[in-house]
Amino acid sequence: MERVECVVAGAGVVGLAVARALARAGHEVVILEAEDRIGTGISSRNSEVVHAGIYYGKDSLKAALCVSGNRLLYDYCAARCVPHQRCGKLIVATEENQIGALLKVQAQASANGVELEWLDSSTALSMEPRLRCAAALHSPSTGIVDSHGLMRALLLDAEQKGALLVLRSPLLQGYAHPEGIILEVGGDEPTSFLADRVFNCAGLGAQALAGSIEGIRPEAIPPLRLSKGTYFSLSGPAPFSRLVYPVPVSDWLGVHLTLDLAGQARFGPDAEWVDAIDYAVDPARAEGFYAAVRRYWPGLPDDSLQPAYAGIRPKIQGPGEPMRDFLIQGEDGHGVPGLINLFGIDSPGLTACLALAQHVVARV
Ligand SMILES: Cc1cc2nc3c(=O)[nH]c(=O)nc-3n(C[C@H](O)[C@H](O)[C@H](O)COP(=O)(O)OP(=O)(O)OC[C@H]3O[C@@H](n4cnc5c(N)ncnc54)[C@H](O)[C@@H]3O)c2cc1C
Repeated sequence: MERVECVVAGAGVVGLAVARALARAGHEVVILEAEDRIGTGISSRNSEVVHAGIYYGKDSLKAALCVSGNRLLYDYCAARCVPHQRCGKLIVATEENQIGALLKVQAQASANGVELEWLDSSTALSMEPRLRCAAALHSPSTGIVDSHGLMRALLLDAEQKGALLVLRSPLLQGYAHPEGIILEVGGDEPTSFLADRVFNCAGLGAQALAGSIEGIRPEAIPPLRLSKGTYFSLSGPAPFSRLVYPVPVSDWLGVHLTLDLAGQARFGPDAEWVDAIDYAVDPARAEGFYAAVRRYWPGLPDDSLQPAYAGIRPKIQGPGEPMRDFLIQGEDGHGVPGLINLFGIDSPGLTACLALAQHVVARV
């Protein structure tokens, strides 16, 4: 049976970053992707924001990997000419009674090592005159990135170090074996081989993939909970030159305004628990968007929001449960030597991809 040192399942931004890091560390790498292109999953259905690391609990992996990932990502994008822009972001209290919550955001950011600038209403309005604002926080290290350009660059780097990408090749099943993990791969030419190490970077498919590996402790696999986020784009010019976020509500950041690299504004994502993966955009959800956006931008014109797209967050906590951290699980967590599972890689997974990859590869 053919033998491969490292198999990465999933060619989203995280799998590609892990493959690149492994290949650069001198490992033999095969990337298996179920679809016919890279990055068709969560990585192509997000806000493309380079987060600063503001909201996550101190000492969480999300905080640590977002803060270090932010720097790594800007450096990488600059070195590899991946389009990006450090445009900054404002978090806006629209009413005096939200100022306490804004102070809490600033304290959380500071605990994570992220310094935010406190702006009184007139300073914020001098930066973004169309805002309705009682006070705001300015995050200069927040920005935007071309996620597809990033994924292409990561793949190219990995391939230049010898990694092999195989498309239309879902990893169907695995069996723990004394010398590694036997893998069964589907697709046009089904095959099986022996891998020393398997990195489960399958995003929304991570739980199903883990569950198909014989020898894994079933109770080690966290539940997959789907949180859909819908976006609406703004017809007409963007009202702001920075990203604008309301004060967050629990673990949801609220309907915010992001910009793409062409300067087009979009609003979202909202948050809706769903039972199945369905990317259809319900135009009726726009009603809630108008109300939410007008709290910080009263000038939003009627009929200016167009249904755009939706993404699904791979949550590992359900409605009302506390936010869970990224879960990176090795043999000690699930019982199969050589297998590393990545579960719950929702936001800030795009920002953190290079730091996540370093963290995962350090475990090899
Ligand atoms: C609405 C939304 C907004 C977000 N906004 C941001 C943001 O602004 N900034 C930020 O930092 N993060 C953001 N995120 C999070 C970020 O997008 C994700 O953390 C990141 O894209 C996850 O990448 P991934 O590679 O783990 O998953 P994916 O991109 O989904 O990749 C997984 C891949 O695995 C493949 N696959 C599945 N099963 C198998 C199998 N059995 N065999 C082989 N291949 C398989 C899939 O086809 C897919 O290509 C957002 C997420 C959502 C949902």
